[in-house]
Amino acid sequence: MQVPHKEHLYKLLVIGDLGVGKTSIIKRYVHQNFSSHYRATIGVDFALKVLHWDPETVVRLQLWDIAGQERFGNMTRVYYREAMGAFIVFDVTRPATFEAVTKWKNDLDSKLSLPNGKPVSVVLLANKCDQGKDVLMNNGLKMDQFCKEHGFVGWFETSAKENINIDEASRCLVKHILASE
Ligand code: GDP
Ligand code: MG
Repeated sequence: MQVPHKEHLYKLLVIGDLGVGKTSIIKRYVHQNFSSHYRATIGVDFALKVLHWDPETVVRLQLWDIAGQERFGNMTRVYYREAMGAFIVFDVTRPATFEAVTKWKNDLDSKLSLPNGKPVSVVLLANKCDQGKDVLMNNGLKMDQFCKEHGFVGWFETSAKENINIDEASRCLVKHILASE
């Protein structure tokens, strides 16, 4: 007997300021490794992750790494096109990268929406949580409120270095995407 089979392919964006750990998060999630050697991404790069979501559902995630243009604080419509969800990343040790989060969210929402007109699901990642939590401490319990106000479906403290919460954050995003289809 054949098990009913559902397959989904989702383009996911990983955006946020330079150096917050976008490439490291993708590497950790897809290739299970981490390098402290810094290399700015040049050119469009994407990686594929396959999730066996449940016995009858396979989810393929195409993770789009930003291509160096994050210096300008926005991306082109072409880059965002047909994405089903996004991670917006900031670095908990650098407050300015948190301030940039709303700018990234506005840029995304102004250039991309789902075929049904709704905004795409976005999860906020407070990365480098292995390094201290200055930014989060200053915001305290207000992170939940911040997410509600700015339309994030959730937020996670992550570390690409220590492999903290990356799988969880991805499951949260995929769950919301599946529910929004
Ligand atoms: P991107 O510009 O957003 O793609 O950032 P990268 O992934 O290139 O990371 C920038 C720097 O931060 C690199 O030196 C990484 O090794 C470092 N980094 C990334 N994630 C973490 C993390 O979770 N913890 C720590 N301690 N360093 C990180
Ligand atoms: Mg990068």
